[in-house]
Amino acid sequence: MNIHEYQAKELLSRFGLSIPRGKLACTPTEAEWAARKLGCGKDGKIAVVKAQVHSGGRGKAGGVKLVKSPEEAKVVAEKMIGMNLVTNQTGPQGKKVHKLLVAEGCDIEKEYYFALVVNRETATIGVMASTEGGMDIEEVAEKHPEKIVTASIDPTIGLQEFTIRKLSIALGFGLGTPLAKDFAKTLRGLVNAFVAYNCDMLEINPLVLTKQNTIAVLDCKMSFDENALFRHPEISDLRDYEEDDIKELEASKYGLSYVSLEGNIGCLVNGAGLAMATMDIIKQTGGEPANFLDVGGGANQETVTQAFRIILRDKAVKGIFVNIFGGIMKCDVIANGIVAAAKELGLRVPLVVRLEGTNVEIGKRILNDSGLNILSASSMSDGANKIVQAVR
Ligand code: GDP
Ligand code: MN
Repeated sequence: MNIHEYQAKELLSRFGLSIPRGKLACTPTEAEWAARKLGCGKDGKIAVVKAQVHSGGRGKAGGVKLVKSPEEAKVVAEKMIGMNLVTNQTGPQGKKVHKLLVAEGCDIEKEYYFALVVNRETATIGVMASTEGGMDIEEVAEKHPEKIVTASIDPTIGLQEFTIRKLSIALGFGLGTPLAKDFAKTLRGLVNAFVAYNCDMLEINPLVLTKQNTIAVLDCKMSFDENALFRHPEISDLRDYEEDDIKELEASKYGLSYVSLEGNIGCLVNGAGLAMATMDIIKQTGGEPANFLDVGGGANQETVTQAFRIILRDKAVKGIFVNIFGGIMKCDVIANGIVAAAKELGLRVPLVVRLEGTNVEIGKRILNDSGLNILSASSMSDGANKIVQAVR
C-alpha cells in the first residue's frame, strides 16, 4: 500500500528527521494561506507547491513548482488542482491532482538518492544511496552503476556503526564531522521508521544537503507490507481510495486476490500457482492477460459471480478464460457459479472454460445444458489457444 508524500513526511517527522515544514491544501485559497503561514515572501523566503499523487517524476511533469509569494502559490495552485499530471510513472492517462503540499522552500546545496527496501533473497533491509540524487535512479543505475552504494541491515541486529560509516564516507559526509553526525541521525531515523511501520519501501529522492550544511528529507515515497497492515490501523486509514484500483478494492472485499494488468484476456482461476501458470500459458500462446485472479479454495457461487463482475468491469477485457482445478472446490459448484454469473451479468465477450477434478462431469453437463455460448476446453493449452483465437 502506498501513501502520499505529505502523509509519509508526517509519519517520518516522529523519528527526529529534518523535514521542511509543510501544509496540505485542497483549494487555491488554502495554498495561498499555507504559503503565508510558512512565511513565504518575507525576506525572500520561497515555498514549494507539490502535487500529491502516487507517482514520482512530478517535478519534470510540472507537479512541483517553486513560488516567491503567497499570491503566486495561489496562481500555481489554480493551475495544478484538477490537472491531469502525466509523469513517466503514471502511464499516458495520468493522475488527477486533488491535493497539494505547500512546503517551506529549501536552499539546496546538493541532492542525494536514498532508499530502503526489503531484500527477500537475503532477508535483510537493503540500503541504496547515491550522490546522484534528484534524477531517476534507473538512469543512474544504467549509466553510472558505480555511483550507487549499497549496504544491508540485518533486522535481527539492527543498524550497525560500520554501516553508517560506510555510507557516510561513500556519500562524502566524512567521519566525525558535524555532517556525519547529522547523516547518522537521519539514517537511524529512516531505518527506525522503516522497521516500525513494516515498510516494504522507503525512498527519499532527494535527500539534500542544504546551504546551511544540514541534511533534510525533501521528498518521500513510502509503501507498506499489506500483510502487516493489521498491526497499524492508523496506516490503513491513510489509504487514498482515489489512487487505488477500484477493481482490486472490490476484490479484496470478497476475499479474492486480484491484480489488474494491461492485457485483454480476463482470467478466473483457483489457486495462486495455477493462476500464474494460466497467465504464462496465455502469454506463451500470444495473448495478454488482463488480470491475475485467484478465487481461492473456498469459493462459492457468490464469489464466482463477484469475480466475473470484477473482470467484466475492465473495459479492456475481450474474452474470459476460466481455468479451474476442482480439489476442495467442486467443479459443479464452479459451473453453477459461472452460469449464474453469465445469466445475471450478460456475457458480452467469449468465454472459455477448462474444468478438471472433482465432479468434472457434472460440471461440464451444467455448462452444456445452460444454453450459454461457452467454449469448453479439454486442457490448459487447448483453453489458452481457444481464448487467444477468440479475442483476435
Ligand atoms: P518528484 O519529481 O515527484 O520526485 O518530486 P520531488 O519532491 O523530488 O521534487 C522534484 C525536484 O524539485 C527535486 O529534485 C528538487 O530539485 C526540486 N525541489 C523540491 N523541493 C524543493 C525545495 O524546497 N527547494 C528547491 N530549491 N527545490 C526543490
Ligand atoms: Mn523525488
